[in-house]
Amino acid sequence: MERTILINLAYLLAGVLFIFGLKGLTHPRTAVRGNLLGALGMLVAVVATLVDQQIVSYALILAGVVVGAAVGAVLAQRIQMTAMPQLVALFNGFGGAASALVAGAELLRGALSSPAEQAAGQAAATAAEALGLDQLVAVVASGLIGAVTFWGSMVAFGKLQEIRWLKKPIHYAGQHPVNALLGIVMLALGAAVVANPEQVWLYWALVAVASVLGVTLVVPIGGADMPVVIALLNSYSGLAAAATGFVLKNNVLIISGSLVGASGIILTQLMCKAMNRSLAHVLFGVLGPGEEGATADEIYQGRIKSTSADEVAMLLETARRVVIVPGYGMAVAQAQHAVSELARLLESRGVEVEFGIHPVAGRMPGHMNVLLAEADVPYDKLKDLDQINPTFEQTDVVIVIGANDVVNPVAREDPNSPIAGMPILEVDKAKTVVVIKRSLSPGFAGIPNPLFAADNTLMFFEDGKQAVTDLVTAVKEL
Ligand code: NDP
Repeated sequence: MERTILINLAYLLAGVLFIFGLKGLTHPRTAVRGNLLGALGMLVAVVATLVDQQIVSYALILAGVVVGAAVGAVLAQRIQMTAMPQLVALFNGFGGAASALVAGAELLRGALSSPAEQAAGQAAATAAEALGLDQLVAVVASGLIGAVTFWGSMVAFGKLQEIRWLKKPIHYAGQHPVNALLGIVMLALGAAVVANPEQVWLYWALVAVASVLGVTLVVPIGGADMPVVIALLNSYSGLAAAATGFVLKNNVLIISGSLVGASGIILTQLMCKAMNRSLAHVLFGVLGPGEEGATADEIYQGRIKSTSADEVAMLLETARRVVIVPGYGMAVAQAQHAVSELARLLESRGVEVEFGIHPVAGRMPGHMNVLLAEADVPYDKLKDLDQINPTFEQTDVVIVIGANDVVNPVAREDPNSPIAGMPILEVDKAKTVVVIKRSLSPGFAGIPNPLFAADNTLMFFEDGKQAVTDLVTAVKEL
């Protein structure tokens, strides 16, 4: 009895540490501490669970830890920072798969143990008794959400990895009725599992149908809308874990799963706001219009003006206010330190410098904030959409480095574009816009950008890091 109280107190402590950890993660200054608090919470939770569940084999757990740590270490070494979003998608998916498998294993254990152990007088009479109604409902929820999360995340991984046939939204006739039918079959199977828990095949049938639904829900979502899906799948993985917590009667799993689920939903809402999409549309997999607009040739032909580091340095010499807008290309080029140096150099010459940060810039929420914080750019220099947009008209030079979709005016102008309605950084309103990128290739949404052909835009075709380094040298030489 006393041990149970101690275990639950340890779980409570872990929960409190998770909450303070999440609070810490809301600001770059406290993020490292937040991360450590979360990790400490996880350590407390793992140790308490190991002490609590004495039936498990420590040798098996150790084997799992060794294999998992080895895979994790290799991944951490090999994965490029720019591929982190795909990795996060995989982690979400594995979380979902683990929940579905654990719930299935518990059901199987209940079903298998009953006849044999019943004879020996060691077990409940039936699987239903072994698990109880509440746990059976949780088993169904785990399997259902876990399978949708795993397969949805695999598709999201493919899209983020830019696998050609997956990247574009895939639409087909009867998409919504098919999803609705899958949903109904899934719920019917869920009810059947609760009513006949000994028939474990019903559970795996449920998982199979949920897997198909996971794929069909995510394939129609495309390009620029991926941030919303990633956040939503993250939330689903938490809900699946919380459901598994009910299956295993493990409080800390319920707490941590709920925290992931809730924070994922909050992030989803923030991403919906950033993309100007409604959550209902995301849940039913109908995101954004997807028709093709004008071709790149039609937009760019004869209108592109190239520039050089020396020319941009001269512009900067007379500028009083400069805004830097980073995007995914800054991450690819690892140009954040050079960008930070340029900002400091300009400031030392009396130029007012700020950064315009779009919430979906890069490939994961907060991508730009993390990179710029790593390069010691003061956090108060980073301005979000609402703060920076009204200032562009008074800005002499905007330097766009590796950003494309988040500064594409088509979002405002073409209701049929895949990014229609997405709020953008309105850099085109500044006196001069300098765009640093290597070519006229499109961004993640795969559409051309009329900003590059605008009268006040100069294209600086170069790798991001090289371009900014050249710019720093040119400014110093003035
Ligand atoms: P984009 O993907 O629109 O554009 C990035 C640009 O960077 C490309 O046009 C590319 O042009 C350029 N680039 C690539 N490498 C380099 C380099 N080494 N040096 C200089 N430039 C380079 O990026 P944005 O940040 O503007 O927009 C993000 C997009 O990703 C949005 O559509 C968003 O919805 C989506 N997304 C965001 C997620 C998030 O959570 N933030 C998650 C998933 C998707 P070039 O090849 O010519 O150099």
